[in-house]
Amino acid sequence: MAETVRPIHPLTTDEAWEFTASRASATTFFFDFDGVLSPVTDDPDASQPVPEVLGVLERLADAVARVAIVSARPVSFLRSRFSSLDNVDLHGLYGLEVWHDGQVVTEPAALDYVPAMAALADQARTELPADILVEYKRLSVAVHYRTAPDHGPTVERWAHEQAERLGLRTQRGRMVVELKPPVDQDKGMVITESVRNAGCAWYFGDDMSDIKAFDALRAREAVDPAFFGMAVAVANPETGAEVSSAADLTLESPDAVAAFLTEGLRRF
Ligand SMILES: [Mg+2]
Repeated sequence: MAETVRPIHPLTTDEAWEFTASRASATTFFFDFDGVLSPVTDDPDASQPVPEVLGVLERLADAVARVAIVSARPVSFLRSRFSSLDNVDLHGLYGLEVWHDGQVVTEPAALDYVPAMAALADQARTELPADILVEYKRLSVAVHYRTAPDHGPTVERWAHEQAERLGLRTQRGRMVVELKPPVDQDKGMVITESVRNAGCAWYFGDDMSDIKAFDALRAREAVDPAFFGMAVAVANPETGAEVSSAADLTLESPDAVAAFLTEGLRRF
């Protein structure tokens, strides 16, 4: 096969798909979950992928080397939404968990924090206003103020106090602040590790933590001129501008992501 020259950013969608199809066997597609494959919901437990997503990810996994979901959700949650997809890899809790060979593998350094997180979730439910939703995720605690945006500053302040007290890290997101173990792991590190031997990778994200993944694609391009990385933002009124301005391309919604992939798959 003739070597295709890597397109230069900014580039057209056509150029990106053409290049990707030319090296499909060396390509990985990464997706965030919330806001990318699923609309963001008031109740995080109610989120479901848009209907077309399961079929399109299955076809994509047949067409390229690898498809992976990289989310702040636990692997157990992602499994509950994608149990029919055998060939899609799952990275949960920003990469602290990974689904591998039929089981959840947890970053050992994070396991020490399991008891502290359970206690912290109870404390959040006691101390924060009743309309704040506390999501306990075993290795982290996410505090959502989507249904009570006025409490945002209170929640942020509380989270920073607890982070300082317990030696945790915070990650801000769309109407949420999350307390995580002080373990060096984020979406950028997952992508850096995962694309080490890839020739091409796409990442679809909508939130602040996804910008680190975009940066990892750029960093890989900088050290390997043959590597092509495509950063795709999914628009939203909360973090849209900041994430979009870091991306090569912006899509309007999770439904638009499914339609975009369906169209792109015609090239393979
Ligand atoms: Mg998201």
